[in-house]
Amino acid sequence: MSELLEIKGVGESLKSKLNKLGIENVEQLLDYFPFRFEDYSNLITVSRIRPGPVTLKVKIGAVKGRYSRRGLHMTEAIASDETGSVKLIWFNQPYRANAIKKDQEYFVSGEFAQNYKYFAITNPACELVSSFPVNTARLVPIYRLTKGLGPTQLRKTIKEALANHDLSETLPEWILDDYQLIDRKSAVSLMHYPDSLGSLNKAKYRLGFEEIFELSLASELNRKEFAREHSMVVKFDEAAAKDFVENLPFKLTDDQRKVAWKIYQDIEQGRPMNRLVEGDVGSGKTLVAAMAALMTVENDFQVVFMAPTELLANQHAENLRNLFLNSKHRDSVTLLTSSSNAKQKSLIKEKIKTGEARIIVGTHAVFQKDVEFKNLALVIVDEQHRFGVEQRKRLQAKAEKMPHVLNMTATPIPRSLALTLYGEMDISVIKQMPPGRTPIKTSLHINEQRENVYKNLLSELDSGRQAFVVCPQIEEGADERVSVKKVYEQLSSKWLKNYKVDLLHGKMKSDEKDAIMKNFANGGTDVLVSTTVVEVGVDVHNATSMVIEGADRFGLAQLHQLRGRVGRGSEQSYCYLITSSNDNPSKRLKIIEREQDGFKLAEYDLELRGPGAIYGTSQHGDLDLRVAKLTDVELIENARNAAKQFVKNNENMVKYTKLNSRVNYLRKITNLN
Ligand code: ADP
Ligand code: MG
Repeated sequence: MSELLEIKGVGESLKSKLNKLGIENVEQLLDYFPFRFEDYSNLITVSRIRPGPVTLKVKIGAVKGRYSRRGLHMTEAIASDETGSVKLIWFNQPYRANAIKKDQEYFVSGEFAQNYKYFAITNPACELVSSFPVNTARLVPIYRLTKGLGPTQLRKTIKEALANHDLSETLPEWILDDYQLIDRKSAVSLMHYPDSLGSLNKAKYRLGFEEIFELSLASELNRKEFAREHSMVVKFDEAAAKDFVENLPFKLTDDQRKVAWKIYQDIEQGRPMNRLVEGDVGSGKTLVAAMAALMTVENDFQVVFMAPTELLANQHAENLRNLFLNSKHRDSVTLLTSSSNAKQKSLIKEKIKTGEARIIVGTHAVFQKDVEFKNLALVIVDEQHRFGVEQRKRLQAKAEKMPHVLNMTATPIPRSLALTLYGEMDISVIKQMPPGRTPIKTSLHINEQRENVYKNLLSELDSGRQAFVVCPQIEEGADERVSVKKVYEQLSSKWLKNYKVDLLHGKMKSDEKDAIMKNFANGGTDVLVSTTVVEVGVDVHNATSMVIEGADRFGLAQLHQLRGRVGRGSEQSYCYLITSSNDNPSKRLKIIEREQDGFKLAEYDLELRGPGAIYGTSQHGDLDLRVAKLTDVELIENARNAAKQFVKNNENMVKYTKLNSRVNYLRKITNLN
């Protein structure tokens, strides 16, 4: 990493402004790509000048500064080429008069327009032809700026860094040969100062490829290392599996059967499984997890089943006990949450240590320091994106051999994302829904139509059903009308005053939240007004209506997850989306009215809003892609295949110093390592 202060012209003050933009070193500065370009590349002669943005190659003379009658400082000058002359005016830039050198050729870019009585170019950018122009006569980069840091200063600083920083190859030559890409130094340079849109695209491909290659290489190497670990051999017992499936009150869907089978194959290998099971809400992932747990306990090993909230842990424990009701494993389901009292806890911990407890369901309490296992072989994590890498590592450290890991998520992950950010897991998808589900009726309403929604809601409540009302998280001072407290007040005092309405939001203590949620799940409340805290897997079969306020503030994938909170039973369920204004709803929102497939919605969101908007930027941080677009499936496949080949060839990483250090860093921060 090189210091910003090493760049010519960067002092403490500029450094701190760059820091404000998240730029800490030269590498990050060079990665600070413009978000768009302004096209000043089209040079014309003075004789062809027309009102609008223009770029000229001229000499500048007759420069003089004066004050206008209203006290404004004006610098005026005449710019000429062999075809004619035009006037230039700068307001409040008195230094211009001395900065302009006579008899030198300049590029001048700016808006040619009528000013008072005559036409002139106002406040033009002006650079010597003999220099490397950054503001004129080119595609001019437009960067996100901060207070006190103007565009010219940033452009010049980047130009300076480009000239003097080592930007040599990170990728091995044979990979570059294969793709015939431009060299790295010019690629980075073209990202800031392209000579055409065509070469900008080539540079993007070059750097995007490198980016995906590094990410893929990190995950391939992690995968390889993970595969060298030993783990418990969980032997497949056909009779036990058959017995379990035959005792279910329903038939497995084909997808459930396939995924369970895949898991059985994985955990028999003596090498750790690292699999992600993805399936829409209600697709029956818990059952698949239960089947994995079954085989593990049949082999006399222990299973941990982790859930993101206490309520969910409770629900899972209860479900598992029911599923194992007629089996010898019934009593080995043990719940450990932080709300158990001290005496209960130490009793439970003792059982875990001796192995009497075999299926341990819980929240993060499961991986506290003093919890010891006898022979942990499988870790099931529900809603994996809610658990940090660190937490998972801690749990893995508790087993004598590396446990198998089964992650489950209802977040649809488009293929491109699965290949990159989730590259080191094997992924199985449950696409099929269990039969007999009635699709949720979704309708979109503008703000002033909310009374219609409430009328429908009342008729559902009148027939004994329950409802969720979800409001967006609102920062101070933003639109208060859809804040969870306002909506709660209005509904409970007016529209729904004959019903029991409760309020739930993220700022409450977790035991308070759990109590409110539990009360709703047991039918103690009719309507729950809440923020998105209800997003994760809670099952309330009697809830048939979901009202979402400020729907335009949510991503489609998130709306879909919220919608999945209803429609868990066999009754017809409804989802009402209310927008925060009376404008015609966007095309994006209209899609969710007819689309029930979470994957399609996520793909659409990914294209429109990028991964950060769907999956939350904070989780990925440094994993965020700077250049590559996740929608560029071909580039991703190519780069990924190259990385696989690299690992297959057993390439010596040490040979590629730059690549090595970058990949080592990525290996540390990617999933599950
Ligand atoms: P999720 O994938 O959201 O975790 P669950 O595992 O909670 O879904 O399953 C949702 C509901 O569907 C549960 O009540 C479960 O008992 C039921 N279910 C699971 N598999 C089937 C199936 N094959 N046929 C019918 N119902 C099923
Ligand atoms: Mg679930």
